[in-house]
Amino acid sequence: MSGVQLGDAEWREAEGLKRIVAALRDEHGGPRIVGGAVRDSLLRLPVSDIDLATTLIPEAVVDRLEAARIKAIPTGIDHGTVTAVTDGKNYEITTLRRDVATDGRRATVEFATDWREDASRRDFTINALYADPVTGEIFDYFGGLADLDAGIVRFIGDPDQRIAEDYLRILRYFRFLARYGHGAVDAEAVAACARGVHGLTALSRERIAQELTKLLSSPDPSRPISLMVGNGIFSTFLPEVNAEAALILTAHVKREAEFAQPASLPARLLTLLPKDVDTVDRVAARLKLSNRMREALALRVSAPPPDESNIRALAYRCGVECARDVAMLYADGSHLAGCMKKLTDWDIPLFGIKGGDLIALGLPAGPLVAKTLQAVEAIWIDEDFPPEIRQVAIARASVAEALSAARNA
Ligand code: ATP
Ligand code: MG
Repeated sequence: MSGVQLGDAEWREAEGLKRIVAALRDEHGGPRIVGGAVRDSLLRLPVSDIDLATTLIPEAVVDRLEAARIKAIPTGIDHGTVTAVTDGKNYEITTLRRDVATDGRRATVEFATDWREDASRRDFTINALYADPVTGEIFDYFGGLADLDAGIVRFIGDPDQRIAEDYLRILRYFRFLARYGHGAVDAEAVAACARGVHGLTALSRERIAQELTKLLSSPDPSRPISLMVGNGIFSTFLPEVNAEAALILTAHVKREAEFAQPASLPARLLTLLPKDVDTVDRVAARLKLSNRMREALALRVSAPPPDESNIRALAYRCGVECARDVAMLYADGSHLAGCMKKLTDWDIPLFGIKGGDLIALGLPAGPLVAKTLQAVEAIWIDEDFPPEIRQVAIARASVAEALSAARNA
């Protein structure tokens, strides 16, 4: 018991949650809300998913939910997780556990009824807070409330040992540091991450990429990224990221604030890499990034040096978001504001000329039509997208030129 209350939160009022809690009420004071939902509600941050912990074994959870006419999906029944679905919302319900063995990637667990023991398996003190969904009472076994308040991300137990149990915790440490670590950095934790870095090679590239993505999507990842570089955390999976890269990211995050731009994941990732198409593609392949992300990275890194004269043409070809990223990433300081201004309150214009228009102007149907249309569009882009009347004039001149070239050939 901590004496602290969870406080009002919209998700607590959901009828579906109340039904789940009523169905799973037990003599050990469960179920309880745990992890992110408790942590983020205390900070008055939005809560996306809700995890519950229970002393009931998974089969009993399924039986009780079904008796209460709540849909139960045995998501990971072996490791104790059942998903309850009510009003289109998912609630993950996990039976309390204790570790019996671990190999650095996954743990063998057995079910338990001791809340403190379940808390001790969790990674950081701020992630091991529990709340009674009915009374709002908070249960804090490892000083998570004080750490949350002070902005300290602290491993539960000995950091070296906790990292050896699961090396993903190294990356989770820096991710949570980005989101919640406004206070002093725990030097012991960082040193333990540095000592455990070899263990990252045992993790799948997808899991590494997923953590890195979450880290880079936090409001300001500058400090954790600098710490990671300084402690060799990137050495096994992204040796391209060096001290200079960390400084560029830091400057980029400041630019985002200065120009009131939302964080762009491809742009932030590119701040960490050299402006080299092949290197970027190799990194994307190594991290098994989605094809969509790979394409977004390629479009940005292959763009010509941006300035006021070409930024709209770039936006026309790859989209305004892409052009903004290119400006923020690669524009010379003296051109950045000008580029951003060119993209403000500006919609990508429509090119009104069609192949049929060129034929109507006298061009014979055939391969020359597509070629000439491209030439017309290129001139129109070059002239900074003049209105339709000028488009028609360009088309007329281009058709005349194409016809005369064809006659002379
Ligand atoms: P987020 O808002 O990012 O989802 P979260 O705290 O809910 O934050 P999850 O990754 O969804 O994080 O995990 C839920 C909870 O499970 C955590 O709060 C933590 O208590 C525990 N947990 C998750 N992954 C680990 C891990 N690798 N080692 C120890 N505990 C973990
Ligand atoms: Mg979560």
